[in-house]
Amino acid sequence: GGGYAEMAPLLERIDSQQRTLRAQNQELALAESLRRDFSANVSHEMKTPLQVISGYAELMANGMVPPDEVRKFGSVIYQESQAMRALINDVLILSRLDEKALTADEAAPVNLASVAERAAGRLESLAREADVAVGLQLQPAQVQGNETLLEQMIHNLVENAIRYNRPGGRVTVKTATALDAEGRTEALVQVGDSGPGIPADAQDKVFERFYRLDKSRSKETGGTGLGLAIVKHAALHHGGTVELQSEEGQGATFTVHLPTP
Ligand code: ADP
Repeated sequence: GGGYAEMAPLLERIDSQQRTLRAQNQELALAESLRRDFSANVSHEMKTPLQVISGYAELMANGMVPPDEVRKFGSVIYQESQAMRALINDVLILSRLDEKALTADEAAPVNLASVAERAAGRLESLAREADVAVGLQLQPAQVQGNETLLEQMIHNLVENAIRYNRPGGRVTVKTATALDAEGRTEALVQVGDSGPGIPADAQDKVFERFYRLDKSRSKETGGTGLGLAIVKHAALHHGGTVELQSEEGQGATFTVHLPTP
């Protein structure tokens, strides 16, 4: 025994196992490097507000701020703390989503129409300040899922649609039950706006963590850079998908497709 004919299948098997291992290692290395990037980005994003907060607070503590400037300094410290709070909140949501898929005990019947109504209601004052009209077209859409997360998902979409819009602009929020391409029923949430839209080459990237089309504007409007990453993860967590249609200058429409129970 021991001839080549006998060895060949064995060698082939070892070879294929090695290929699989190599591919797995590459995947792990990629996941690891994404995690490292994410931590580095989070630290970087936290440093800026913290520097402002500690700088301003130090000046105040040392009595270097004239009485008529105290309010202004206080208000900047407050705003920067709010930005840090929003960032920590989003990072926590994402790290929970990284951990696991939707578990059975977490899933309950959710009516997307009432969740969308609540999410839009919470953004009423933001819409008023921005002079943007929010219209609701809510048809029953029942899914099985995590209501808090689904509300966060819709909130993020509507908030973006208001923030990346123009004075006098509009936002439309729709929920519905429809048939997908294979004839299965699915639940839909659609948020459309009349803002500047998103150029084709950025339409995938906007779902990445900390990707922003316009850094200064996003910061100024109070964004964390994590809103759409949360939307995408929330959709995936529920076995769904999110789709973006937009032409520059023509607004953007985000559609979330979710399986129905
Ligand atoms: P941010 O906190 O910066 O809003 P997001 O993840 O929510 O982070 O969005 C990523 C980027 O995608 C934003 O900075 C913005 O440039 C772009 N964007 C998101 N929603 C819209 C929209 N409705 N219209 C135009 N651009 C958008």
